[in-house]
Amino acid sequence: MAWLPCQVGRCYHGSMRKVYLDNNATSPVDPAVVEEMTPYFVEDFGNASSIHTFGQRARAATEEARGRVARVLGTKPGEIVFTSGGTESDNTAVRGVACQLRSRGNHIVTTQVEHPAVLSTCKSLENEGFRVTYLGVDREGRVSLSDLEQAISPETVLISVMHANNEVGSIHPIGQIGEMARSRGIVFHTDAVQSVGKIPFGVDELQIDLLSISSHKLHGPKGVGALYVRSDVPMTPLMLGGSHERRRRAGTENVPGIVGLGKAMQIAQDRMEDFNQRVQALRDRLETGILGTIPDTVVNGGTGRRMPHVSNISFLGLEGEALLIALDFQGIAVSTGAACSSGSLQPSHVLQAMHLERSRIQAAIRFSLSRMSTQEDVDYVLETLPQTVQRMRDTSLERLR
Ligand code: PLP
Repeated sequence: MAWLPCQVGRCYHGSMRKVYLDNNATSPVDPAVVEEMTPYFVEDFGNASSIHTFGQRARAATEEARGRVARVLGTKPGEIVFTSGGTESDNTAVRGVACQLRSRGNHIVTTQVEHPAVLSTCKSLENEGFRVTYLGVDREGRVSLSDLEQAISPETVLISVMHANNEVGSIHPIGQIGEMARSRGIVFHTDAVQSVGKIPFGVDELQIDLLSISSHKLHGPKGVGALYVRSDVPMTPLMLGGSHERRRRAGTENVPGIVGLGKAMQIAQDRMEDFNQRVQALRDRLETGILGTIPDTVVNGGTGRRMPHVSNISFLGLEGEALLIALDFQGIAVSTGAACSSGSLQPSHVLQAMHLERSRIQAAIRFSLSRMSTQEDVDYVLETLPQTVQRMRDTSLERLR
């Protein structure tokens, strides 16, 4: 990103290079997305359920966006339900299927590394009489298929395993999980908030029944998302009211947001190859540069299949939070884990589930790039970070003396 006047609250300098490497928390909206959304705030502002021309124009735009989302997933538009984001999609999928299938069984299988949107929904279902198995993961953050197989019981009605992890980027063997679920008549949901539009896949090929999407992770607006629901999957709606979204999600559609999501998905699809090559090369340059110049650094979840834009690195001997703040002063935005849990000073539940040592968990920083990241961004981090880490390590040594 370019040199911009610094407007971040903590920065005091009039101008400073700003490098945003926290795209798994949220990403800047693509100007082409904003352009496509704008008419739906002021000119074509109709309610998509209204019969008049204003309403019809809004409906047409909503359906075009639905088609765009469906194309990326390789499915039919009628299987896409628009929601307020990844959290609502996860809640709807897990709760909606569990409650609908309660008479068939009360067991859900998920993993310990899911986003809180899935974990909290599972916890609340436990209070309502469901039994939930939270599968552990290996040191690379991946679930084991044999553990999953063993966990399945005749009462299992739902398996929910995320596609790519938001903190470390590890990719779960979703295709094999889908196959295992389908062959046993179990519904399979995957949270693909961090993978959709970034790596190529189709819902049919991976035998996915439900899939969560969030627009703001792929250069679309915040507060809008989608849930893919295979046409024959039974699901109780979470939101009750009007007959919107084929009675699967009540509430007046967020037309500008939906248009933005559709456009963001289309652009992501068109640029996926570039994303996979260019962004991975930048991530690798960043990672190799850090490991090569800063002693006592280690990548978390770095081997096996992983998202091309994520690097989670522990700077041993430092507190990740302190390093995050020091980098923020230099105009560099990173994260210590998931956006919703950073600030809570709770150790990352994902790194804990990976059985990493406490000192390594506390020292972790997540760098997440996007297609808007540049080589200059990476080089600025590589110039700044070694001195910052050295200064902080020297200071903590002095304190110990
Ligand atoms: N699932 C995953 C894996 C995420 O990373 C996030 C957001 O960080 C969500 C769900 C929630 O999405 P939203 O912010 O759109 O509610």
